[in-house]
Parts: sequence; C-alpha cells; structure tokens
Amino acid sequence: MEENKEVMSGNFIHSFIDEDIAEGGTYYGKKVHTRFPPEPNGYLHIGHAKAVFVNFGTAEKYNGLCNLRMDDTNPTKEDVEYVDAIKEDIKWLGFDWEDRFYFASDYFERMYGYAVELIKKGLAYVCELNGEQMREYRGDLNTPARSPYRDRPIEESLDLFERMRNGEFEDGAMTLRAKIDLASGNFNMRDPVIYRINHLHHHRTGDKWCIYPMYDFAHPIEDAIEGITHSLCTLEFEAHRPLYDWVVDNISIDCKPRQIEFARLGINNTVMSKRKLRKLVEENYVSGWDDPRMPTIRGLRRRGYTPKSIRSFTDKIGVSKVNSIVEYGFLEHCLRDDLNENAKRAMAVLDPVKLVITNYPEGKTEEFEVENHPQNPDLGTRTVTFSRELYIESTDFMEEPFKKYQRLYPGNEVRIKSAYIVKCTGCKKDEGGNVVEVYAEYDPETRGGNTPDGRKVRGTIHWVNAGDCVNAEVRLYDNLFTVPDPDAGEGEFTDYINPESLVTLKDCKLEKALAEAEKADRFQFMRQGYFCVDTVDSKPDKLVFNRSVSLKDSFKKGK
Ligand code: ATP
Ligand code: MG
Repeated sequence: MEENKEVMSGNFIHSFIDEDIAEGGTYYGKKVHTRFPPEPNGYLHIGHAKAVFVNFGTAEKYNGLCNLRMDDTNPTKEDVEYVDAIKEDIKWLGFDWEDRFYFASDYFERMYGYAVELIKKGLAYVCELNGEQMREYRGDLNTPARSPYRDRPIEESLDLFERMRNGEFEDGAMTLRAKIDLASGNFNMRDPVIYRINHLHHHRTGDKWCIYPMYDFAHPIEDAIEGITHSLCTLEFEAHRPLYDWVVDNISIDCKPRQIEFARLGINNTVMSKRKLRKLVEENYVSGWDDPRMPTIRGLRRRGYTPKSIRSFTDKIGVSKVNSIVEYGFLEHCLRDDLNENAKRAMAVLDPVKLVITNYPEGKTEEFEVENHPQNPDLGTRTVTFSRELYIESTDFMEEPFKKYQRLYPGNEVRIKSAYIVKCTGCKKDEGGNVVEVYAEYDPETRGGNTPDGRKVRGTIHWVNAGDCVNAEVRLYDNLFTVPDPDAGEGEFTDYINPESLVTLKDCKLEKALAEAEKADRFQFMRQGYFCVDTVDSKPDKLVFNRSVSLKDSFKKGK
C-alpha cells in the first residue's frame, strides 16, 4: 500500500487542530481521532473520496486514528450490499480503519437513554404537532416558533416517549423535541425534532425499533461514544454546529468532539448525489454503479484510475471553506500524471488498415526488442515482430494529403516506430473508394528507425504485426454530460446525457504482448492515450480495453 501514500498537505483544518493540541499534543487528553461516516445507501463517489481523504489523511498526519462508521440511523434504502462495497472501496483507496468499524445503529439503546436523560432534565419534550402544523408553527425571523406541548410535565413526556418506543402510535403522531430556543435566529435551534416515529424495518436492528433518532441528535452522540476529537464534515452542517455542541454539552458523556466543516467537492460535467447516480443506474443510462463513466469509486477504478491518482487529486484540490466546482479535466490530469510515470507503453491500432511492405520478403519475420517505458528501465522490455504485413491507423495514410501532413502518402517517408523507415508507394481501394491496403517499401539500412545518412524523416507512426497481433474491443469514453452543470438546466439532468460518452470499437489490433495483459493492467497506447483491461467484460479470448484518459492535457504543468 506504501506506493499509494500521498501525505496530506496542510490546510485550515490542520491549523485548527494544531491550536487544539498545542498543549501536550492532545485534545482533552486524547490523540487526534476522526471518523468517516457514510450512510450505506449507495456506492461511494469521488466526493466521498475527498471526505475519506480528509478524515483518514488528517488522522495519518497526526499519528492519530480514524474510524469507519456506517451512519445507518435512517432505515430507508440502506442495504448490506452497500456496506461491503464501501469497505472495499476505502481499502482500495489505501486507508485502513483497523479494528474500528462501527454501526451507528449499535448505539440506538444508548441514544434512547440520552434522550430520556434530556427529558428528565427538562431539555426535551414529546410534541404532538404533526408535520404540517410544525411547519405552520415554525415562525419566521421576527416571530418565534410555538408548540403547545413545550411545557407539558416531564413525567408525561417520559411516559409518551416510552410508549412511542413501544409502538403505540402511528408514524408522525408525535415527535421528541429538544427544548432549546424557540426564538433562535438559527432555525436548527428552534426546538429541533430529535426522534420520530417510523415503523420501518432496519437492515440491522430489524423490527426492534419504531422510533429513530434524527441525524442532528444521533451524529454528535455517535462521535462522542467513539471518542472522536474532531468531527470533520461538509459545509452544509455549519449551521447545525450549535446543535451538535448543545447535544454533547447536555448529555452525560465526557467526550466533546469539535465539529469542523469543509467544502464539498463538485466536479463539472457530472452529477454526484447518490440519488441521481442511482437514477442513472436504475433507468439504464449506464451499465451499473461501476460503469466507467460514473464518478463512483468503482466506476473510476474500472475506468483505470489508480488509488494514487485519486489521492493526489483530492490532495491537490485542497480543503477549503468555500464550495467550488473542479474541472473534470483536472481529475484526468492527475491520472495522466501517474500513468505517464508508471504505465507500460504498447502499440495498438484502433482503426486498422493493412500496410504491405512490398520489398520485404514474404514469410520473413524480425524481432525488435523495445523498451516498455522511455524513462523507466525498471519496466523492462518486450519484443515486437516485424514482417511484410502490418496494421496501421487508417488516419495515418492519406492519398491526397492536406498541407503539413507528415504521415504516409505516396512518395513520403515515415518511420515505423522502432523498426524501419518506409516510403509510401500507393494504395488499393474497393469499389466504394475506401482504402483497403496501403503499400510501401522499406529501407533495409534504417533498422531500428535510424537514418545512417542523417536524412530527416518527420513522421513516426505506430503499428502492429498482422501475423501475430491480437483482436480486441476498445471502449472510448467521454464526459457523461454535455453541459458543465447538468442540474442547472431547464429539464431533468438526464436530458443532458452525452450520447457519445461511450464509443465502442470492435475490431482493434493490439501488439501480441497485450494478449498476456491481466485484468486492470494499465498501458499507454502510443499516440492514443492510457488504457486498461476491463475488469468485467474482458476475457482471454475476447479482450476488452477501456480508455482511461486521452493524452491531451489541458492542465499541463505551469498552466
Ligand atoms: P450524497 O448527497 O452524495 O448522497 P451524502 O452526504 O448524503 O452524499 P453520506 O454517505 O452521508 O453522503 O456521506 C458520507 C460523508 O461524505 C459525509 O461526511 C459527507 O459530508 C461526505 N461527502 C459526501 N459528498 C461529498 C462531497 N461531494 N464532497 C466532500 N464530502 C462529501
Ligand atoms: Mg446523506
């Protein structure tokens, strides 16, 4: 896992923590302890990866601990399938919660106890306003909220709360509310609901409970129970922080975690909310949660992203207090950076046409030993076979070239990468005028692609040997949406799906070394981009490659 390590750069969260632990390196006597608390109602996406990185990365930085906690207090849509997937994705990103894996639902009994404690202290009451009345009585900036139940006797609330738990009432009949401040300018503090009745089956606690704690009550308790020192969450919780503090200050627990908020990650030309991602899957806009166009961790993984590139991305975009949208191209840039250094080079012809070297003896073959990486000898070498018949990219030949075209056209010399210099002599066409074969003659003096007389040959093209190349399907991906912000349009976000987000090429020719490629192996196909073996559909006798990212980079260093 070591190679994936990207130590988190400094940020404002760390400045806060530095202040907190200035004396003795601890916070209230504790080592820095964070948690990542996903709700198991979908697969993790790149936004979650940022939160994973912020939480685990911060713990790493301070030599502290980070828990993994399933925040499963809301029984709708939660599923064990997601729990396993979330664990797998975090492991893949290179983080480890060791033995600290928890479920918020395991704390239901204690949460209930703390609610009873609040009632006994006169700090919570059972309110019988229904949802509609609650909204009506909510007040506004100039008018405080109201509840006729606020001052009911403690004994009565205790009795009703117990009966709520026992299932005596229907959903929505009553709630438990914290008694804080009906006139607060912060509406979260206007006696927020902390328990509601919900006769729902829970994926872990079954039918044991029919009342469930609200997030704002449950979350601080979960953190405090686990001894979290710093509860790092996204900005939308900023206005909930006073309630977070109120809860931990008013229950009998000796841990007072500090909540610190940071900006959510948004990326253009995609959507990030689990609800929308689920819609894309359920309505078959994509092939699944792991479709290589999805911004999910599994989608990115199948696309060919490395843990290192994702960690580097989350680190480079930084942690801030202001929400902003990052360009998709920057994520791609981070992948390219990693693959440029670490991916083996290979040759693949995506849209093949045959090149016949007419003066090369029939039946003869030659082998060339070529480097797998131009700068990194550790990646070794491989052999490529050269013979009379090759495949080249159809765009590398033009019968009538446009100006400055430096590849094959009648009379022009081109370097067949690592092999020989050839001179184009013509082509054969079918009745429709399509080029079916290109002809050239090689210069035997130019073995290895060198010109002993020093003459200039401008174009270099990639190729594969027709006799031993392997067939493959290659899938080219582009943005899933045609507009930067699919949510901002008039219609549904699905109206903006890019119909060309997946282009499948069925008859590609790869050099023979790629026949041995293993699932998830990554390569740079020369002049084309970075590709990986598809982990789902590729079979030894039917190879499928995904284009992870093209070579073109709009975020070149210094830009
Ligand atoms: P979504 O709206 O995509 O369902 P969520 O916030 O409901 O996201 P959770 O499972 O509750 O998803 O999130 C787990 C953690 O990940 C939370 O701490 C949340 O703040 C964080 N998180 C979710 N989305 C992002 C994002 N886009 N950028 C940074 N952090 C995120
Ligand atoms: Mg959520």
